[in-house]
Amino acid sequence: MKIYDCHIHSDNSIDGKSSVDDICKTAIEKGITAITITDHATPMPEGMTNYEHIEKCVKEAHTAAEKYKDKLLVLVGAEREDLYPANYRERFYDFDLDCVLGSAHSKPTFNEYFPEYGYRDIKECSESAPLDLVAQVVKKYYHRLASIAYYADVDVITHLTFMFRYINGYNKRGLEIEPFYPEIDNILKGVIETEKSLEVNTSGKALDWNQFMPNAEILKRSYDIGGRNITLGSDAHKKENIAFAFNNAAAMLKEIGFTHGSYFVKRKRYEYEL
Ligand SMILES: [Zn+2]
Ligand SMILES: [Zn+2]
Repeated sequence: MKIYDCHIHSDNSIDGKSSVDDICKTAIEKGITAITITDHATPMPEGMTNYEHIEKCVKEAHTAAEKYKDKLLVLVGAEREDLYPANYRERFYDFDLDCVLGSAHSKPTFNEYFPEYGYRDIKECSESAPLDLVAQVVKKYYHRLASIAYYADVDVITHLTFMFRYINGYNKRGLEIEPFYPEIDNILKGVIETEKSLEVNTSGKALDWNQFMPNAEILKRSYDIGGRNITLGSDAHKKENIAFAFNNAAAMLKEIGFTHGSYFVKRKRYEYEL
């Protein structure tokens, strides 16, 4: 099976540990076909603007692409954080990116909807907050992600169930996911209608939760309403986790009926056989 890892963070992300060059070397050692470096498109690390660290990542990835061109396809994109106000100039779109990932992380949701609680993120909140509050936040999160799925200029919708990794995986709160299926189905529909790709994120498998995000049941819901575009992403923040559990993910996808994975070059979708 060919391996395309379309979601990797380099040390140009504040939480990334490995350089672009080290990521490439490890990918070659692991026999990977192609990687896409997708650093966070937010103002980080501290002191750098949204533009500068993506610019640096793009330069490093282009250098690596040339250096390793006979051994590895090196692509570069960005993990676009939340929807920003219309006047926010997202200058990274000026770059010739291969792929833009669409994500909603939890911090903006807390800042906007629950400022009085002072929680920093979903990990902290879901440790102690009343479960009905956590459920409200998850609902808001899905509304936000739906607007990205339907309206944002992105190619892939990432880690659809990542809040549950913290709520249930990390904090063992046992919040049922089924009540959110209407919101989740709406996002799956948005991905299909706008011809985006749905990510199967394997980072939970590498870290603290033994589940793909989303899991087989949700992927089957997508398949059953016509979803066929699937992108595999390790969301690796260190080189060791590149393409983690991709063989298992591919086996799960094939069992559901998926036959191909997707990757993006210059924002155009291409397919490979799973
Ligand atoms: Zn993310
Ligand atoms: Zn990420």
